[in-house]
Order: sequence, then structure tokens, then C-alpha cells
Amino acid sequence: MKHILHNLVAFTLLATLGSVALASGHTGRAQVGPDGEVPLLMPGTKMPFKLWEVEQVAENVYAFRYSFYRNFFVVTDEGVIATDPLSADAGPVMQREIRKITDKPVKYVAYSHSHYDHVAGGQVFKDEGATFISQETCKANLEENPNPDVVMPDVTFDDYYKIELGGDAVELFYFGPSHDNCLVVMLIESSNHLFLTDIANPPDGWAMFYNPAISEDRPWHMVPFFTRLQQLVEERGIETVIGGHMAGSFDPVTNRPMIVKGTTGPATVVEQKLGLWTAVTSAARDELAAGTPPGEVPDRIVEKGLLKDKISGYDPEKMRILMQRMTALAITGE
Ligand SMILES: [Zn+2]
Repeated sequence: MKHILHNLVAFTLLATLGSVALASGHTGRAQVGPDGEVPLLMPGTKMPFKLWEVEQVAENVYAFRYSFYRNFFVVTDEGVIATDPLSADAGPVMQREIRKITDKPVKYVAYSHSHYDHVAGGQVFKDEGATFISQETCKANLEENPNPDVVMPDVTFDDYYKIELGGDAVELFYFGPSHDNCLVVMLIESSNHLFLTDIANPPDGWAMFYNPAISEDRPWHMVPFFTRLQQLVEERGIETVIGGHMAGSFDPVTNRPMIVKGTTGPATVVEQKLGLWTAVTSAARDELAAGTPPGEVPDRIVEKGLLKDKISGYDPEKMRILMQRMTALAITGE
């Protein structure tokens, strides 16, 4: 399981999901009712939710959520453009949900990055003839570390690819390493929705990192990456983002962890994330330039309360870990 939410609420919720699944007598699979509906998970909680749901976010654009994971698909007269199949459990469910909307086949499946927890489960679409598309380094990653549940991409590209079908299109942009070394952002032509996975999630770009020690994030390229992404947002007049995850957040009144759906939200999440990465990158550099010994930089920055009032779910220990990484970046460039 790679990172899901950028705060600790994930652990609590996953533990709950796991115990529900076990209680249902299945191994790791939630119980599905005869009508295809699943019982509400977490009954009695503030925001109960189903294991999966399909939400129409524009005339021919749908978001499919399974557990905390989300993708989107575009329905056209000539077939469907789908994205990240999510898992071997989720893929067939998604296929059935698409069938309720159209009898046209899935023609394309685009991968957002190479992490199994987003791109497994595509075999059902392969079986109906879909062409799989990924950034070229993603394919190299998958060849190096194959997973039987992940369909190998048929088509690869370097920094840009446009999938055109039935009068609509999905553009894929690669801006260099960020989370993973091949993650792309996707832009839907008809609705101008931007799809982001694992790099920022609406509605809150200032949410505390779920796990700042994770190796998949590339701190050395986060500021250039988000600068390019923000340029795209401005150039294309993008207003709305579809988030690749159901987001956790904090109740503004009680400050207790809570679930927000985060299917769509304002594109300002990109600018916020750029602000966050810029602040932590320069804070380490400034502290070193002021003569603070490298080993003391993280503690000093936490003592100074950097972004303490800005970051929701602020956690000094996580901030200290993040600043260790940013201090190493300031010294070594990586
Ligand atoms: Zn990932």
C-alpha cells in the first residue's frame, strides 16, 4: 500500500476497512450484495460511504471511486477512454459500472504512474480490446518490477500524448519526476478537468503529508514540477481538479480527522502545493546559509514553527522528517 492520503486518517480508516472485510468472511474483499451494492462501510460515522461509486462530473465525464482510490472515464459515441483501473478487485466493478452507462467498448486505458496500487486490474479492459498507454519510464518500471495484475502498456510516450476518441480527447503531460519518476497529469478536453494522482488532492493543498519519509516523492524536482503544472493551469484556464483519492481532512470546529470526498475541487490546490514545496525547500537553504549546522536544521525549523498555522493537520514530527529530507536536498542536490 503506497501513500493514500496525506494524513494519518488513512490508517484508521484502512484498519476499519480491513476489519469489515474480514468480518464479512472474505479475504481482503468487501462483501457485495446480490444487487451489486455494497453495505455502507463505517456505519454511524460522520460521513459513511460505499466501497465504490460512480459520479458524473461533466456531460460525458465520470469519476469512479473504489475505496480511497479514484479514476475517471470519458464516454463517447465511439467508445470509452478509461484511466487507472486501480486493482484486480476494482477493475471488474468499474467495467460493470461503465456497462450501465454505455454499451460501447473501452478503447483506451491511460496510466497516471507506475504504482501498482493505481494501475493494477486492467485485464478486463485488455480482454475487450483496449489499448494501454503510459509514459515510457512507467513501462520500464513495470518491466523491471512486473506484477501479474498489471497489464503492460502497449503505447508509450515521452512528455506529451493526446488520446482522441469520438470528438473528445484526454491529454497526458509529463513534467519530470515528482511522485514516482513517470507520473503524468491528465486534462480532459471537453470539460477542462485536470486529473491529479498522489501529488495533490482537492480541496486542500496545504494538508500535512501523510508520510514525509516516503521514497516515492522526489523532493529535488517538486518545485520545477509544480511550477510547470501551475503554468498549465494558467495557460489552459483550468478551474477544476479531479482528485485521485478520497481525501482526509480535519474538522475545522473539532480538529478531529474526517473524510471529505474530494472528487472535484478548485485548481488552486496546485498553487497551494507549489507554495508548500517552495517554502520547505527554501527554509532548509536559508537555515544552512545562516550557519545552522545541518544536523540542527530540522529542529530549528520546527522550533520556529514554519507553516505551523498554514498546514492543516500540522504535525511537528512529520515536519522534522520532511526537513531532514529538504536539508539533504540543500546539501547534496537530491
Ligand atoms: Zn503512487
